[in-house]
Amino acid sequence: MRILLVEDEKKVASFIKKGLEEEFYSVDAAYDGKEGLRLALTEEYDLIILDIMLPVKDGFTVLQELRNEKISIPVLFLTAKDTLSDKVQGLDSGADDYLPKPFAFEELLARVRALLRRGTSEKNLTLKALDLSLDTQSHTVTRDNAIVQLTPKEYSILEYLLRNKNRVISRTMLSEHVYDYHFDSDTNVIDVYINKLRNKVDKGFDTPIIHTVRGVGYIIKDK
Ligand code: CA
Repeated sequence: MRILLVEDEKKVASFIKKGLEEEFYSVDAAYDGKEGLRLALTEEYDLIILDIMLPVKDGFTVLQELRNEKISIPVLFLTAKDTLSDKVQGLDSGADDYLPKPFAFEELLARVRALLRRGTSEKNLTLKALDLSLDTQSHTVTRDNAIVQLTPKEYSILEYLLRNKNRVISRTMLSEHVYDYHFDSDTNVIDVYINKLRNKVDKGFDTPIIHTVRGVGYIIKDK
């Protein structure tokens, strides 16, 4: 699952991003409203965590412009504006949830899970290929009913490939999905992760799940 975080206080942003990444989410951070809106309109996210008091464009405006563009992605306001009228205004303006600062990280996680569940009601919560299965709620991966332990980055790559099952995914797409867009990451790093992933999910099995498409990228096939 990929989350966009729009928060101008860099310390807070980096704390939230790190915490979410430890929970197997891929996170892009934007530090002002304009950049946040640009990313929300050009990239694909499953959830936006949006501060209200932001430079250039405030959170209410960002949300309004998103909704004007008919983008219905779930939005969670995370903000120091914590009066009752702030909350009402936040929810009335089309946000799906509202969490005042300061907040307990556990509570943020619970709300993120709840919003993502809502958004994925029609999608499968469990992703499968052959005898491999990935539970997007508990983040558990099994192959042939045995649990496979993955790092957050490995998990993120596997989840993305599974969501795009039977489609070739380029190294660039993988790298954009897995890394924050601020890093101009070397796509060779993706090959390193894929090797690690293969050692964990394919090694010892007759039929591999992850296939290389030479010169392009990777594909998960289940037939
Ligand atoms: Ca702020």
